[in-house]
Parts: sequence; C-alpha cells; structure tokens
Amino acid sequence: MQGKIALEEHFAIEETLMDSAGFVPDSYWAELKHRLLDIHDTRLKLMDKHGLEMMLLSLNAPAVQAIPDIAKANEIAMRANDFLAEQVARNPGRFQALAALPMQDPDLASRELHRCVNELGFKGSLVNGFSQVTQAESAVYYDLPQYWSFWAEVEKLDAPFYLHPRNPLPSMSQIYEGHAWLMGPTWAFGQETAVHALRLMGSGLFDKHPGINIILGHMGEGLPYSMWRIDNRNGWVKAPPKYPAKRKIADYFRENFYLTTSGNFRTQTLIDAVLEIGADRILFSTDWPFENIDHASDWFDVASISENDRVKIGRTNAAKLFKLDL
Ligand code: MN
Repeated sequence: MQGKIALEEHFAIEETLMDSAGFVPDSYWAELKHRLLDIHDTRLKLMDKHGLEMMLLSLNAPAVQAIPDIAKANEIAMRANDFLAEQVARNPGRFQALAALPMQDPDLASRELHRCVNELGFKGSLVNGFSQVTQAESAVYYDLPQYWSFWAEVEKLDAPFYLHPRNPLPSMSQIYEGHAWLMGPTWAFGQETAVHALRLMGSGLFDKHPGINIILGHMGEGLPYSMWRIDNRNGWVKAPPKYPAKRKIADYFRENFYLTTSGNFRTQTLIDAVLEIGADRILFSTDWPFENIDHASDWFDVASISENDRVKIGRTNAAKLFKLDL
C-alpha cells in the first residue's frame, strides 16, 4: 500500500542515545545507533521503498521519563523537541512530530505540550510510561490527581497522547528475576503499559475529560484480548466494580483509545483488535528503528483484511486523528 502514515517511529539525540543500548545484542549496536541518529537518509529511503508517505517522529525510551532531576528532565525534553522541530522543518511532507514531555512536573509538562503544539506545530505527544520523580527509586503513574490539570490541557489542545512502554524498575521486577529474557518487548513492556492504561481508564479521568485520545502501541499491549474478562470478572456475583470511573472499562477503551500495529505484525492479533475496538481506531506503525519497516509493510500490505480497512488503518485514521495536512 502506498501513502501509509506511521506514528511510533523513534529517533535519539546524543543525550538519550544510550538508553537504547541493551535492547539488541552488542553486535547490532552500530546498526541500531545509526538508525536512531539518522532521519533524512536511510530512514527516508526505506519509507520510499515501502510506501510510507509520512512518519510522526518521537524520542527513544525511556529518555526523559528516566531523569529524576526535574529541571534536567525539562531541559532534555525541550532540547529534543527543538531538535525534532528543526528536522521536521526540513521535510514537513514526510515527517511530523510528537513531543517528549517532562512528566515529572505536571505544570512543566503542560507548558511544554502547549509550546510544542502551538509554537512548533507538533501533532501530539509520546511519553514513555511512568516517570521517576526526584529520586531514582520512584515510579509515578499519570492517573494520580496531580496529573489531572495536565490532562485538561491535553483535552483542550486536542493533542493525542501516545503512552509508550518502558521496563519496570529493577526493584519492582521481582516476577522477572532470573528471567531477563522477559524484559522489554517480549513481555514486560506490554504488562507495564497495559496496567498503566487500565489505571487511567478506572480512575474516572475520561468521565471528567471525555475528549482525551490515548494511543497504545503493539496492537494494544494485550488489552483487546482481555477486554471482556476485565469487565466480566466473576459475572455471577452482583457487585459494582471497585474503581472510581462511572462506566465499564471497555467503554473507555472504545471511546478514548487508539491502537497501533507497531512491532506486532500478526493478522490474527489485528483481527482481534478490529473486533474489539473497530477498524476506525487502529493505526499502522512500525516501531522503527527497533523493528524493520519492511517487516511491518510486507505484512500489512497483504494482511487478510478488507481494502477499506487497510486504507483506514494505513492512512486515513491517522490523517483524521492528527488533522494532518496531506
Ligand atoms: Mn517504540
């Protein structure tokens, strides 16, 4: 398919580059490093070759979220966003931007989102899971009350928020001890991000701010497959759910969330996601440079879905959600 738009596509700046070491064997680091630092050469050639008209670019992970010093987190976020704005300005027909945000401080995050959207023309933000705030041994999630003023700004700006994975802190990873292979994209990324998303859904955030759009990668981090069970629990027991939100979790999932195909190139999984959330809420993505553009495109271009759905998922859903000027 020509004209695809992809939106979980990463780059790095020198200050965040080493956050991505360790996600591939040492023998691949030179290649990954090149892919992360390149924007206008290899990346663009692959986009041309595989029918990607546009990428919405975002910083690598965990980057800003793993900087406990609040002022430093803000400084790196602004530096990355300024750099990204310059790259987009060189080729705006092919690249657009999602902002990195210093979520360590909700007011600074709101201010940076506002700056990125209104002054730099960014289309939304991408945040790498929980933030470490003030001390390295902390994990702060965004359903907490101090973040609701930030979410009000997200709704007001109508700027989609991509909740991207990071690994849990080692001190909070007992279940993975002795099984390092389960960290990262194998399992821990999905687990961490799915629970964070469920916290947002159960918090009542979307009752107060129904206009917020959250994007999850990797075909929804396992959530479509579990959505019925999350709401059913012990269906024979007549007891209300024990969360502050007013409605079923699936209602928020279907009205406030979008999913991307990033790093999950599997037709069975895509069809399950279509059945749970609908083809209007699924967006093509690759997860470059951690996954391959050809792997994503070769699969998606011929996946057994209708051509109507392929055009929506590959292009028009993203154009509409981000109000892209194509
Ligand atoms: Mn990613």
